Amino acid sequence: MEKIVSLAKRRGFIFQSSEIYGGLNSCWDYGPLGVELKNNVKRAWWRRMVQERDDMVGQDASILMHPRVWEASGHLEGFTDPLVDCKQCRQRFRADHVTGKTCPECGGELTEPRNFNLMFKTFMGPVEDQAAVVYLRPETAQGIFVNFNNILTTTRKRLPFGVAQIGKSFRNEITPGNFTFRTREFEQMEIEYFVKPGTDEEHFHKWVETRYKWYKELGISPERLRLRPHAQDELAHYAKACVDIEYYFPMGWSELEGIANRTDYDLKRHAEYSGNKLEYFDQELNEHYVPYVIEPSAGADRATLAFLLDAYHEEPDKDEIRVVLRFHPELAPVKVAVLPLSRKEPLTDMAKEISQELRRHWNTEYDDAKSIGRRYRRQDEIGTPFCVTVDFQSPEDQTVTVRDRDTMEQTRLSVAELVPYLREKLDNR
Ligand code: ATP
Repeated sequence: MEKIVSLAKRRGFIFQSSEIYGGLNSCWDYGPLGVELKNNVKRAWWRRMVQERDDMVGQDASILMHPRVWEASGHLEGFTDPLVDCKQCRQRFRADHVTGKTCPECGGELTEPRNFNLMFKTFMGPVEDQAAVVYLRPETAQGIFVNFNNILTTTRKRLPFGVAQIGKSFRNEITPGNFTFRTREFEQMEIEYFVKPGTDEEHFHKWVETRYKWYKELGISPERLRLRPHAQDELAHYAKACVDIEYYFPMGWSELEGIANRTDYDLKRHAEYSGNKLEYFDQELNEHYVPYVIEPSAGADRATLAFLLDAYHEEPDKDEIRVVLRFHPELAPVKVAVLPLSRKEPLTDMAKEISQELRRHWNTEYDDAKSIGRRYRRQDEIGTPFCVTVDFQSPEDQTVTVRDRDTMEQTRLSVAELVPYLREKLDNR
């Protein structure tokens, strides 16, 4: 993990938030390469989960919602962690993280556990009183449930169908940490998939498979990926089943995503609290009922971290070590780098022209600084799948070499062949 944190900072993937002020605990900023990587992760999710499926639509709900939403969802009452305080050093711990009644830091006496709500609270409008209290959403899911009728009437979808959303969520976590694994502000990628009761188990298993495959297809090593079904006593009272997709992070196996069969709990609760019916009319059966829902809920930051960790490789290279991020081409922040062998014309002119053309298709970098070997190393370290080198022969016969990040092989091509060649390698799925 330390190597990734340091590479992430050195190359501009992830910086500490407000660093010049000493940083803000557990908040992180995505730099120029990080934002590309995370956007690619979100895009790869949206493309496969929404755009390539006929049974899915998307939405983007606001972060602030009516406070009654959190009463109905159970977050106001139940979204808590039991906490204990040390009477001596005043440090606070999660009760389930300490054993015994003494402080793990100073040995002082601990208080009895008290419930601590994880939702961030703020005020809407100029008056800071109880009536103005609103919450930053702790999950994106509720924005989908409250729009159930709107989506049903505007899309005229038939069951089974799902709604997807990507967005920020906030939780006042007591023990954030492990870089971007657990933070207080994070991004979720969530799906609520509505099904006819009785077909829920079949759809639940399909979603577990679909989501597992997504990580694998985008390059996560299968030996670092596993499914962990929840034991009966681990399940929320309304959930019929839950499976976590776990990744073998440096701190051990940890949750990447949870897939839950939430039954008809959420729609029924919102119907009860809002006084609006949230039902589906089944034309075949000629009856109304409340659909069951399967919820695959993933973290965009956790997925990005897993892709980053999994891509990291160190290899012996002559007397040195080659660091290479073996990103799947779809996720690589930069797809192609154009490197003129020298800073002299006509090489630079030709290289600039080529990079301008490639930019129309892919995120492309132009780099003419330092030796060609150093530039290849730099591109390896940020995971660029291909480097196009413009050398002294290039202006004479309109050819360039293309270097493959993984094999390090170089292929000589005519400039006219470049785009189709790269398209085949980068966009072929
Ligand atoms: P954990 O047990 O790790 O706290 P959770 O079971 O509370 O997670 P869910 O409520 O199921 O998490 O949220 C779904 C997904 O959202 C998680 O699998 C994770 O990828 C992401 N997520 C949740 N909390 C955080 C957080 N504090 N920081 C980053 N990502 C998070």
